[in-house]
Amino acid sequence: AEKQKYIGMVEDCCCDYETVNKLNTEVLHPLLQDLVKTPFYRYFKVKLWCDCPFWPDDGMCRLRDCSVCECPESEFPEPFKKALSKDNPVCQEGKPQGAVDRTVDTRAFTGWTVTDNPWTSDDETDNGEMTYVNLLLNPERYTGYIGPSARRIWDAIYSENCPKYASEQSCQEEKILYKLVSGLHSSITVHIASDYLLDEAKNVWGQNLTLLYDRVLRYPDRVRNLYFTFLFILRAVTKAENYLVEAEYETGKDNVIEDLKTKSLMKQLVSDPKTRAACPLPFDEAKLWKGQRGPELKQQIQKQFRNISAIMDCVGCEKCRLWGKLQILGLGTALKILFTVNGEDNLRHNVCSYS
Ligand code: FAD
Repeated sequence: AEKQKYIGMVEDCCCDYETVNKLNTEVLHPLLQDLVKTPFYRYFKVKLWCDCPFWPDDGMCRLRDCSVCECPESEFPEPFKKALSKDNPVCQEGKPQGAVDRTVDTRAFTGWTVTDNPWTSDDETDNGEMTYVNLLLNPERYTGYIGPSARRIWDAIYSENCPKYASEQSCQEEKILYKLVSGLHSSITVHIASDYLLDEAKNVWGQNLTLLYDRVLRYPDRVRNLYFTFLFILRAVTKAENYLVEAEYETGKDNVIEDLKTKSLMKQLVSDPKTRAACPLPFDEAKLWKGQRGPELKQQIQKQFRNISAIMDCVGCEKCRLWGKLQILGLGTALKILFTVNGEDNLRHNVCSYS
């Protein structure tokens, strides 16, 4: 019965559910599983300091359960000191599953390019506040971040920055922002359900299918939005094919073989003939921003997405903040790839015809 709900085209996309499932199982997922282990992709450089611009009064960023504390340097293991960019060693207290493991091996990737993205609010300046995080040590999973603090973040995202528009009232562009955020929300919940702390006393982790059903599967629109977000990202990746195949994946002289593997995996991922044949245009961005309100709409949606990006600094659980920032950066990059043409925003003044 669950499967019956997902037959035909993914809404607003150019691929059907069955094709997406098949491509993901046979091609994309296996390649991505290898790609995320490579040095280029396993390290993420990020400013994790909780710099919340919206609720300065709220002590949530300092919640003992969700944060890391700074500890005297003497407490910190000698081999780790070298790998940290700043002398702010950290120790964990409270719920360890909520805190980021900053253990970085000494072969940490050292390249970092500052890029400006109008869709995101992150200050990417490499100013010493950035830390490298080994994502393999910090899988996205249940962290215990629940209650008013988490709810406040989602409420702010949905109510102020991407309200659920009634379909007859809105242009396609407005619905897309909602669907991307809802798809990301579904993805976060699926990760929580697939790696859940089943028994805290015995530290037993595993799948929580009840949670998966209650919070995602029970709502077909949440599942549809997950597929939509998947295809939106896939379109950005295939559109950036030339760049991704040519890009440098070098992470230092100790990693030459692994870096070559990264390049080869990336090439397989973006140029896979099966994907190209089965789903040549996962999403058609050319139909957007053509209406009379195009330029205004684009600015409005860009501002809303930037706001969502800034809200990530208010996420009170450090590991959730890490994954929230990473995923919003990914969505923002996809938005930039799909909606920037020849370095310009490419806005035209027509009618809002695509809705
Ligand atoms: P929530 O997931 O908080 O949802 C709040 C409300 O939003 C729901 O009641 C519903 O009305 C609506 N909603 C839910 N899903 C969707 C959807 N897909 N589309 C549209 N509307 C929806 N917790 C972890 O354990 N691990 C993490 O890594 C993690 N990362 C997070 C990252 C961010 C950026 C945020 C804001 C929170 C994160 N959390 C994480 C917390 C987690 O998302 C939930 O907030 C928490 O588990 C409490 O869930 P809940 O049942 O109250 O509903």
